[in-house]
Amino acid sequence: MPTHEIANSGIERLPMWEMYGGFWAATRWIIYALALVVIITFVYGIWQRIRAYRMGRPAPGALDNIGARIMELLRYGIAQMRVVREAFPGIFHLFLFWGFVVLFIGTSLTVLDEDFYRLITGNKFIHGGFYVAFSFMLDLFGLLALVGLGMALVRRYVMKPERLDNQQTDASLITWIFVILLTGFLAEGARIGVVMGHKAAGYEASSFVGYGLGLVFGDSPVLHKLFWSVHVLASLTFIAVLPFNKGLHIFSTLANIFTRSLGPKAFTPSIPRMMERMEAGEEVEMGYKKIEDLTWREILQTDACTRCGRCQDQCPAYNTGKHLSPKKFVQSVKEHWLARWAQQRDQNVEVNKAEGEAAAAEVGAGGPYLLAAEAACYGCEPGAAAVESVVLWDCTNCMACVNICPVFVEHVPLINQMRRELAMEFDDSEKACKDFFKNMDTNANPWGMNPSDKMTWTAELGVPTVFDNPDYEYLYWVGCMGGYDPRAIKIGKAFVKILQAAGVNFAVLGEMELCCGDSIRRLGNEASFQALVTMFKTTVQECEMDPTFAGKKVVTTCPHGFNTLKHEYPEFGFKWEVVHHTELLDQLLKSGKIKLKGGNGHTAVLHDSCFLARYNEIIDEPRNVLKAAGYKMVEVPRSGDLTFCCGGGGGRAWLEEHYDPEKGINRINFNRTDELMNAGADTIIAACPLCMMMFDEATKRTECEDKMSCIRLLDIAEAVAEKLDVPTDNQGSDGQA
Ligand code: SF4
Ligand code: SF4
Repeated sequence: MPTHEIANSGIERLPMWEMYGGFWAATRWIIYALALVVIITFVYGIWQRIRAYRMGRPAPGALDNIGARIMELLRYGIAQMRVVREAFPGIFHLFLFWGFVVLFIGTSLTVLDEDFYRLITGNKFIHGGFYVAFSFMLDLFGLLALVGLGMALVRRYVMKPERLDNQQTDASLITWIFVILLTGFLAEGARIGVVMGHKAAGYEASSFVGYGLGLVFGDSPVLHKLFWSVHVLASLTFIAVLPFNKGLHIFSTLANIFTRSLGPKAFTPSIPRMMERMEAGEEVEMGYKKIEDLTWREILQTDACTRCGRCQDQCPAYNTGKHLSPKKFVQSVKEHWLARWAQQRDQNVEVNKAEGEAAAAEVGAGGPYLLAAEAACYGCEPGAAAVESVVLWDCTNCMACVNICPVFVEHVPLINQMRRELAMEFDDSEKACKDFFKNMDTNANPWGMNPSDKMTWTAELGVPTVFDNPDYEYLYWVGCMGGYDPRAIKIGKAFVKILQAAGVNFAVLGEMELCCGDSIRRLGNEASFQALVTMFKTTVQECEMDPTFAGKKVVTTCPHGFNTLKHEYPEFGFKWEVVHHTELLDQLLKSGKIKLKGGNGHTAVLHDSCFLARYNEIIDEPRNVLKAAGYKMVEVPRSGDLTFCCGGGGGRAWLEEHYDPEKGINRINFNRTDELMNAGADTIIAACPLCMMMFDEATKRTECEDKMSCIRLLDIAEAVAEKLDVPTDNQGSDGQA
């Protein structure tokens, strides 16, 4: 029945909405036919995308633990908890997302009501009070979506933050959403205008936006038909093309959040049974050099990337003018994947081994090669590849990108997998890197120093080895920095002083301790890393000790060693519990095992190490300790899980860093040290010997002399040790309680 006839018939007194009111009877069936085409197109598009994801390898565990995954989806997909970390973009995205969710639910209910329930029963369930509330909610959320869209437009095209690149796909998505929202309100307003033109319809005021427009439009069935038709056609077309444009991110981001890794953060899995297979002469895939090496989940990640640029904003390499932008890296891999997929789909051939620039031009974005080193192997220009080697070597593995990404893209494992190819397959690493590898392979430490020198200072302090004290509670993993670097040795000595004062039962491995392998692994030399771990296990076994260290606790002063021993060694059978010295210091203070002298008068700014704050969420513990030591804390904006890297992670501490201030290329440690020096504190506190090394170097610049003349640079253990109120009843020199 036409809307105006309904209006005249008295039905309008019942609050409800006639979807096809005023249209030909056939309209309903035309819409059904169109909807069928839309559904088929949509399903086809999604299926094609899934086929493209399946170019990747299987992703073990991506669909396990369904309960936890549903919770993640609710938290980060539906409640958008990561998206709202940034206020302005967070709020407008929330408005848009929830606006569309409610409008989608509303439209689905209306279709159910009009096209199923009414056809079957002759009645409608959306009427009366329910209709009033329903129409109010739809108007409210539709309006919020429009406001959100306006904010997005202002940000993208007026504010123009550097991290956003505007592409045609962004403009078309925004335009499409705008047309749908606007015509939705216009159609509603015109409908209400028609209803009100014949009878007063006070309840329609609940559709407060449409009601206002209805007053303007008046009784105009033509307008109603026009707006309604445009709205329905625009909405149906929008749904049909969703899988083929940026709108796909609605699904790819939710799928990515659902299937994301639930294990240790930014974890790069080992190459299974690498040593064994190499010894058996088997061919071992070293890392990622072609798109088929990625898992389908990793390919999905690249597709989930919305180009929001948050990762780029946080990246220390990008912020100091290096080649690496994590956003561009992900987009390069995605473009390469899509180009490779298009070729494989259209020609049904594998193009991985295609040679020459002609093949690169044919495939388009990224050429047939994922890595520049791979392209070079086939005699191609680096431009024939998706990812340049320099980009990969710039990464400090700081995880700022992974931590901030609202849709849980994990850049670090991808970068590390590609570094494995560069380091082991293509021999494409810097000279400094090669020297580092050589030193590690010969003497299991970064400098190639005599391994027997590593524990000289612990022996001098009377620290027992595991042979002297097999019943130790804590195994103190001294680490390469702690064993050889003079500045880190001071940190180790301070820590030992505290452990002894607290009566902690601890021991060191002595000459049995090798490098933990963090840097060599992150520089891509997985073979040397696994050789180190194997050698360590064999030595432990030969000494008739349990090579799993089950039931034992390990403490480190180095967050890199801490992270590797805690999260990566278990893949090789280790069952120890690993703590960082900040955690142990916090526990010892809380339990009263160490007491500190009152008063301090110093102000401290803490540098959160990436491998503590981001990888392991250790943020409060060092602050607790420093407050207990009497420090007044000052925070820099880039702190906690938003900390800025010192530049030494990912093996970068052992490589040369590009520095050219005239071209705006700074060193990461200079950037960070300047921030810490200007924080207004008289003490800079680190909790990592690598960070200390990077800051030590940066503070020695001539321009820092004045500032540093009244600023101290301490490790947290040193800050505690100097305040130690040593009790007489439990201090000892043998490290045992
Ligand atoms: S891990 Fe750090 S350095 Fe590497 S891409 Fe991410 S933000 Fe940049
Ligand atoms: S990877 Fe994540 S943070 Fe970076 S641009 Fe893509 S969606 Fe944004």
